[in-house]
Amino acid sequence: MSLYYRLFILALFLLGGAFATARYSSNEPASSAALMAQYYHAPEFIGLAQLEALADDQWQNIPAASINLGFSTEHIWIRMPLAQLPFDYQQQPWILELGYPLLDHIELYIMHGDVVLLHTDAGNDLPFTARPLPVPEFAFPIPPLSQADWLYLYVNSESSVQIPVRVFPEQDYWQQRVAGVTFDAAFHAILFSMLAYNLLIFLLSRDVIFLLYSLSIGAFSMMMAGLHGWTYALLWSESPHLNDLAILLSLALSEIFLALFGLSFLRLRRLHPRAFMLYSSYVVTASAFALLAFYLPYHTMIRLLTGQAVLMSLSALVLGLTLWWQTRSRDVFLFFLAAFSLLIGLFLYAMQKFGVIPVNIITEHAAELGSIILVVLLALSMAERHNRERQARLAAQDVIINMQREANAVLDQKVRERTEDLELLNQRLQEESTTDALTRVRNRRYFDQRFYTLYQDAFRQQTPLALLLIDIDHFKQFNDSYGHQLGDSVLQKVAQTMQQAVKRPQDSVYRYGGEEFAILLPNTDASGAMQVAEQVRTRIDRLRINHEDELLSVTASIGLCADIPQRREQQDLLCQQADKALYQAKEQGRNRSCALPLQQPDTDGQQQIV
Ligand code: GH3
Ligand code: MG
Ligand code: MG
Repeated sequence: MSLYYRLFILALFLLGGAFATARYSSNEPASSAALMAQYYHAPEFIGLAQLEALADDQWQNIPAASINLGFSTEHIWIRMPLAQLPFDYQQQPWILELGYPLLDHIELYIMHGDVVLLHTDAGNDLPFTARPLPVPEFAFPIPPLSQADWLYLYVNSESSVQIPVRVFPEQDYWQQRVAGVTFDAAFHAILFSMLAYNLLIFLLSRDVIFLLYSLSIGAFSMMMAGLHGWTYALLWSESPHLNDLAILLSLALSEIFLALFGLSFLRLRRLHPRAFMLYSSYVVTASAFALLAFYLPYHTMIRLLTGQAVLMSLSALVLGLTLWWQTRSRDVFLFFLAAFSLLIGLFLYAMQKFGVIPVNIITEHAAELGSIILVVLLALSMAERHNRERQARLAAQDVIINMQREANAVLDQKVRERTEDLELLNQRLQEESTTDALTRVRNRRYFDQRFYTLYQDAFRQQTPLALLLIDIDHFKQFNDSYGHQLGDSVLQKVAQTMQQAVKRPQDSVYRYGGEEFAILLPNTDASGAMQVAEQVRTRIDRLRINHEDELLSVTASIGLCADIPQRREQQDLLCQQADKALYQAKEQGRNRSCALPLQQPDTDGQQQIV
């Protein structure tokens, strides 16, 4: 739902509410204006008896709305002829209401000529319980007095002096009380729900701005409850002094929290350092006022605090407008609108008080309505901002996650490539370390490993294993005659020849040492091994080596042992038998293959093929 749509709904809601309350309150009871009441005010106190001496022109007519003297400690007298009351006050009980809950000292006199028929004292100088009626404003029940003709009222107060006077037949009074209480209850219910809502958001989001806002609403609500007389009626009804202090403190706290809220909401430290200084100074002075409230009189402190409140509202308006001009941000616009609606409310309230516009339930509660609009608009704009920031955060998180994912993929790929390279290198190193450099066949080390493995396999599976040992004949002589270098190339050729002679993939040729080679033939019995040995031997025999127009040849003798291992530890024996067979081949004239079994038969049985 778009912000402007929400604002539109809010405006409709407020208009509807205003219309309903205006209709509801259209049959207002007789108010001050219609009562032909007059008042007299003077800096010094004069008693009831001295009023006689006043000339008629010293009395002023009460203005349309109510008597409004601002912060005044003057002594005020009101007089009112009863004959003009719009109901039969001589026959029925009626009620006189002073609709401002913060008056310190009130005296009411109902007179017949010079005779006092009824005298009642009220005001916040007395405990709440001493009031004639237990309501937040001042209300005096007056019995039907057949001879009563004048009403006199004395008022003196430390706070601002407003005396909205209204009279009602008794039953009408209670009816309009219900409307008033309903309004106040609704007002505080809205504030409370906003407080709870923002507190909840603070608890969920841990964004301090919501806490500051909740605290502002809390302090403001407390102050309004004080100004409406509810805190005195409900919380500390025995102590008028505490009530004054509570009003001062809640006003100071409202200012502190609202200034802090404005500071952080408008990001003044960054956006407008001068305004940041200004708002910081509001916090400091409001804190100082809060402390002073314990020592200085109420009328001094309330002046200071109200003055600062006016300054703060005006500067909020100017600042909101300036920053909105700079940033064009929607939530700053809402801030400006909020400050503006509060000021409009206060302005209407003041206009009404000074009789410029008529009194009705809307103008009378304009300040409250303005503050509710303020509270709701600010909550809206904070929700708006919170939402936007959250979305920006989520988007940023997405970007980071994607970047991480890509980086991980690249890293994975690199690691994979590097691992493959390493594996290849490892494989090459492994091969290199098991290969003989000169002849490129497997070396002795690898032979030892393979021989062990193949022997164990053969033993486990009970299959024959053959080992051929090949030694080149008179090689020392060859070296001596043709040089070591040619000897080396003969070794290479012989190795190559043997590789070619060995066909099965599991068969392999090893350089056993010097000019000796070995061949391992798994799964091969003595006759098969002898065939391979003869193959190898004849191929070597046919080998020709060019040397200075001469074709040279070499021969080799082969000893072999092939058998099914009978015991696990006979591996060395197999080797010894092959060696022995080789020795026999040498003995018997070379260039031949001799075989010996693993198990020596009782008779010295030998096999030999030439
Ligand atoms: P026999 O028939 O009894 O085997 O006689 P032989 O001369 O081959 O004797 P023997 O096996 O003891 O001689 C080994 C000779 O092989 C010694 C050395 O000159 C030669 N030899 C060993 N390794 C190499 C090598 O890497 N290169 C060359 N060129 N010659 C080698
Ligand atoms: Mg040798
Ligand atoms: Mg030799």
